[in-house]
Amino acid sequence: MSQKVVIESVQIRGAAPYLGMCVASDGRQIPLYSTNPDIVMRWLCDGWRCRYNQLRSRRTKWDKNLGMSIPLGGKPDMRSDRQVRLECSWFAAIPAMVLQSPNRIENTDWWSANKRRKTLKKKHRNPGMTPRFKKRRDDLYFVCWHNKGANANYRQLNRRHGEVVITGQNPGAYRLDGQRCRYSIHIRVRVSQPIRDYTSVDVNWTRRTLVFVNDPLPIGRERTGAMVGLDRGCVHTLATSDNRFIDLPKDRLNHIDKEIRRRQKAQARRIAMSGETVKQYRRHASRTYERTGREISRLYAKAHRIIDDWQHKTTSMLVREYDLIVLEDLNLQGMSRKAKAKPDPDRPGAFLPNGQSAKRELNRSLRAASLAGIVGKLEYKTRLTGRNRLIFVNPAYTSQTCSKCGHCAKENRESQADFECRQCHARMNADLNAANNILKRGLNHLLGLDEAGHAETEPDAQPAYRGKDASAMTCETSTR
Ligand SMILES: [Zn+2]
Repeated sequence: MSQKVVIESVQIRGAAPYLGMCVASDGRQIPLYSTNPDIVMRWLCDGWRCRYNQLRSRRTKWDKNLGMSIPLGGKPDMRSDRQVRLECSWFAAIPAMVLQSPNRIENTDWWSANKRRKTLKKKHRNPGMTPRFKKRRDDLYFVCWHNKGANANYRQLNRRHGEVVITGQNPGAYRLDGQRCRYSIHIRVRVSQPIRDYTSVDVNWTRRTLVFVNDPLPIGRERTGAMVGLDRGCVHTLATSDNRFIDLPKDRLNHIDKEIRRRQKAQARRIAMSGETVKQYRRHASRTYERTGREISRLYAKAHRIIDDWQHKTTSMLVREYDLIVLEDLNLQGMSRKAKAKPDPDRPGAFLPNGQSAKRELNRSLRAASLAGIVGKLEYKTRLTGRNRLIFVNPAYTSQTCSKCGHCAKENRESQADFECRQCHARMNADLNAANNILKRGLNHLLGLDEAGHAETEPDAQPAYRGKDASAMTCETSTR
């Protein structure tokens, strides 16, 4: 968790940082200095990435043909921070808090990637390749440790603006006559809320953003005694058991979707007109094609930001309003996975229809709703308050069971939206009915009853919905 801000401008003060040696046209080596903010920031990013890759080169990968582990990049670079500073001139003036940070970051990256690959392998899914080196064409990026005020100090300038100052000094041998040795890089940022204590700053120079790495704010809240069951779906993103629908801003998202479609069509048209395959065309793709590609990824990023913002606002609201939140335990990955290909037994190499095209639309809307995101955010936010409880229940038949009398039949659900019980003839919205069932199941689970609400010990125990019993129960269970 962290706070992300936008970089507005960068200023270099004090000495001009020494950027390394450069070979002139006549073969002489000349030292390079610059006070151009763009050049200095690129130098920091390049240096950080270079050190990261040096550390990465010590890792090994398994070689099938040789039957042994070999270093990732051929020859491992075993030099220490001190040694590279002396041997590689472009490292000489990089602040220690920047040069040392890849040590830990590379380690975390490597092991988390390995863990992820292991889990994917266990699930019989494609684990992807061994993590490699950072490339120049990736985002320009560096990290500076704060280390309790050692560097990268933040200062509020006024209500909307602040400044992060990264300091460093030129090594003794490269000090210009009559100039100071210390330089400072003033990164002016726009802020919208107070910056909390942080451990490091991550600067992305390609996107001009800066991230303060810190802990999230604890969510202060009073106990409300309210409980809710949530039904997640495609038509309504969320339906609550107290008869509310909470939806994504669909109009805005659809508008973006349309824009993406329009550009994708244009790209496909260009490829089709050239009469080449996609791979062939992309080798000499026109500038317009490249630009459209960039526009598409920007639109996707925008849609993602809208969904993320909505998820944060919704989950915060839920956590603030309800003590108990019950969700269905959906296997989202399985639901949105591609349908398995069915080979045709009569014609080798051909396939029978497997319902993929019907499933595709569902997959798309499911992913768009990105239900998993809601769960992840609810999980950490309930942990933050320490007073909420989040439970998952079996989702089977929640949409076919009547929440009034408990009658379960396929015919109960007339269409996507309508529900009418064949036994007690209660009519309601199908999603709201499911949400009520989910809450019931959650309460039964807490009371130690089975799914249908039948008591295993006391025959007359009824699940308590609200009131004194309910709040007592929440108190007891929320102390976990
Ligand atoms: Zn009924």
